[in-house]
Amino acid sequence: MCGIIGINSSKPVSATIINSLKKLEYRGYDSAGIATLYDGSINEIKSEGRVDNLEKSSLVKNMEGTVGIGHVRWATHGLPNSINAHPHSSQNVSVVHNGIIENSTLLKKFLVGKGHKFKSQTDTEVIVHLITENLKTENIVESIKKH
Ligand code: GLU
Repeated sequence: MCGIIGINSSKPVSATIINSLKKLEYRGYDSAGIATLYDGSINEIKSEGRVDNLEKSSLVKNMEGTVGIGHVRWATHGLPNSINAHPHSSQNVSVVHNGIIENSTLLKKFLVGKGHKFKSQTDTEVIVHLITENLKTENIVESIKKH
């Protein structure tokens, strides 16, 4: 089962997110990732295998941002690799997810038709593109609710 952590703080969050993911390792997983928001940009770092692999990355050590999310993945759609690891992000939306999106194939077809380019094989990535698409006309709350 996957594990999810999100922190909104006044201090940098990457180290705390990594430590929190380690506490969720007992659930079993195949890859891990973290995304933070810093200076208006979303930065994500992901790796196959254990949270240790993420922690070893010098990029994570220097990762800034006081808002962030982390995930340890249990793959259902797509190989267990770093591209399919969560978070999945666009320029302004970043998502971690537990479970299965039953209508992801249909949604992906719709979003590709709107010009969205997918990077991963996951069902999860449709959420990113759907909210990003909805943000063209709606506020964030409505963009999440609308489907
Ligand atoms: N359907 C998601 C994926 O394959 C499941 C992620 C999870 O629950 O860990 O990425």
